[in-house]
Amino acid sequence: MPPQFTAVPVALLVSLQISCASISPQTVATAAAIGATAPLADVVAEARLLDQPSNAARLEALQGLLKKRGLAFTLQPFANSARQRDGRAEGQNVLLEPFGGDGPLIVLGAHLDAVPLKEGGQSHGMVDNGAGVVVVTRVAEALRAHRLRHRIQVVLFDMEESGLLGSAFLAKSLDRTKVSVMVNVDIAGYGDTILSGPTTAAGSAPLHQALARVCAARDYPCLRLANFPLSDDRSFQAAGIPAISMGVLPALEAHQVWLLLNGGKESGLAPGFAPAILRTIHTPDDTADKLSAEGMTRIYNAVLGLILELDAS
Ligand SMILES: [Zn+2]
Repeated sequence: MPPQFTAVPVALLVSLQISCASISPQTVATAAAIGATAPLADVVAEARLLDQPSNAARLEALQGLLKKRGLAFTLQPFANSARQRDGRAEGQNVLLEPFGGDGPLIVLGAHLDAVPLKEGGQSHGMVDNGAGVVVVTRVAEALRAHRLRHRIQVVLFDMEESGLLGSAFLAKSLDRTKVSVMVNVDIAGYGDTILSGPTTAAGSAPLHQALARVCAARDYPCLRLANFPLSDDRSFQAAGIPAISMGVLPALEAHQVWLLLNGGKESGLAPGFAPAILRTIHTPDDTADKLSAEGMTRIYNAVLGLILELDAS
């Protein structure tokens, strides 16, 4: 058994054995990325392509990236009800071609837009959330090499930063009875500790339990948060769909975020203290030099493992 398979849960091994009989030489290379210890190639460079002066240009760049990687997609337009935040009349969710089996839908998403800045222009949006977009597209590529029971819909949401508009539009368009769960990736740039939440979301316990199995099998430090930063998972929770949001940070920042959002008056944090991540995102400093292929690979492994675990369980 190749070393990269040694830390994979039993359920994943079964799924790998099933799929390995049928996959082509091209997909063997993708499947070998499961549990990879070597950093994924070119992930930082691909995120950098999304660093654009406008969200319209960012959307164009994303489409170019998907075409280059051979990932078919459609655009899902929706009206922009928050024109004061983002001047465009419409947003565009980018929906990758669905794949997998006939089972209930698993939605995997990350927001593609960058936040407009008070001082004008917009954030470079690399940690938040260019890195997450690249991670999710790589997970999609890897998942396609597997024989899955569930139908998988990977989506890059527009206008998360304008009030979760794209995810709300998609969530409302789905038939709730045909959707299993939603997995959201936001803040995926650097670090070794996987964060997930909010654990208070209805129906999310099995998602957090599945992630815990992945973390244990891969020996990743993982931290659950009851209060978790706002992101597109909330649109699915609002639609009655169990959802989990995931990110990655260094251990210190991860625990500082936990304390800040969940520690209350007893957090021990100095008054006014903000972890480094909160001094980076939504500022001009959310730049590509913050990204690390190691950190992006770690959350890629965690997300890929979670989807396979959910598919098998
Ligand atoms: Zn974000």
